[in-house]
Amino acid sequence: MVGRFNLIVNALKNFVRFVNLFVMPPTAAFVTCFDKIRRKRNSWFCPPSEALNYLSKKIQMFDDYKFTVAERFMRYVQVDTQSDPNSNTQPSTEKQKNLSKILVTELKQLGITDAALDEFGYVYATIPSNTTKKVPVICFCAHVDTSPDSSGANVKPIVHKKYDGNDIVLPDDPSIVISTNEHPYLKKRIGDDIITASGTTLLGADDKAGVAVIMDMANFLIAHPKIKHGDIKILFTPDEEIGRGVDKVDLNKLDAQFAYTLDAGERGAFEDETFSADGATVTFYGVSAHPGYAKEKLVNAIKVAAAFVESLPKNYFSPETTDGRDGFVHPVQITGIAEKASVQFIVRDFHTDKLSEYENFLKEKMNQAVAVFPGSRGEFQVKVQYRNMKEVVDQFPQVSQYAREAIERAGVPVINMSARGGTDGSRLSFMGLPTPNLFTGEMAFHGKQEYVSIQDMQKSVETIVHLAMIWEENA
Ligand SMILES: [Zn+2]
Repeated sequence: MVGRFNLIVNALKNFVRFVNLFVMPPTAAFVTCFDKIRRKRNSWFCPPSEALNYLSKKIQMFDDYKFTVAERFMRYVQVDTQSDPNSNTQPSTEKQKNLSKILVTELKQLGITDAALDEFGYVYATIPSNTTKKVPVICFCAHVDTSPDSSGANVKPIVHKKYDGNDIVLPDDPSIVISTNEHPYLKKRIGDDIITASGTTLLGADDKAGVAVIMDMANFLIAHPKIKHGDIKILFTPDEEIGRGVDKVDLNKLDAQFAYTLDAGERGAFEDETFSADGATVTFYGVSAHPGYAKEKLVNAIKVAAAFVESLPKNYFSPETTDGRDGFVHPVQITGIAEKASVQFIVRDFHTDKLSEYENFLKEKMNQAVAVFPGSRGEFQVKVQYRNMKEVVDQFPQVSQYAREAIERAGVPVINMSARGGTDGSRLSFMGLPTPNLFTGEMAFHGKQEYVSIQDMQKSVETIVHLAMIWEENA
């Protein structure tokens, strides 16, 4: 009797197992698919052909997600947030806070209760962890300001739907043309929806694309609580374009272990390396005298400075004749009167120890110039600006490894790049927060020809959602 009872129990158990293994999952998948397609079609009916089609594809995480990144971007670029290198206030322009306030309001609407703007213009916010695992706290960071190089007032963004591969003529100033010759990346974006400015201003994709991507990532994660992640910090900075983006950042308050800036260009780009940068000032002192009675007395510092500048190489060590991994010295300002003239330089290379080679070279040229003008003298000063983040980022290989994996999960090939410039991340890395840079789609920064592909921004959103998940999976 007991034997037969056991047989029946076992048969029942096997039946349940069979149902669980072979009947339930496909049914559940089918129901979910039907549901997704019905919602997408906005109707109660799901044609079986479409359901089969759907099932034959891998079910994708973002298939039924309505991205908000483009709509946000279009609004954010219309807020003028230009920073000003000649201002001593923090932030350099009060108007940057106009966008930051909007961001805080929108984060709060999403339910991110701790979102706040501080007096210096930084926005801090936390998407709280929804996992029992102890996950390292990561931060996504973008800057709200736009470059002082081109006007950011009254930006009129234009969407060029299904871009056809032709040059784009901007309507408010037809002399401004975004040509595929000058911007070969555009050829890769044929079929995408491209956003440009209208011809009289920059667009501000640098870095409002990054801001909008982070906002949409927050929107997605909050709408999909089943996707597990640790604490995710959001940081929006002012004044990046004038090199002061992290001057007043409070890393204790931020409380993150690793960060990513969203401020790189083409789809798939990943930058874990920036220039190392110094500023150098060469000052010449002359001897002034009344020009009417100056014979054998006057030594004109302006002429010494001019001779010095003329002696600088043109075919090497110069930004206009170098690219890739070459460094340079670059005069950015010259001021002077007969008594005193000074030339300001930026000095850049990927190898920090090479900076002193360039600086010694400048010093040598300075001394040669002074030798030609007896009575004059020169003075040389160097100021550290920022350092190649790779020196820090490479000590935490998982930071870059997870980022590359996330890009691949979004279905995008990784393009490893070195930034011939600095990011907020260069300085953050040396402040103890390793911070490489991820793509957003922003292209042709700082000018009227700036553009961004909506599909690139969406891929960027997908990438950082995957990145949050990967940190959780590996915890
Ligand atoms: Zn930027």
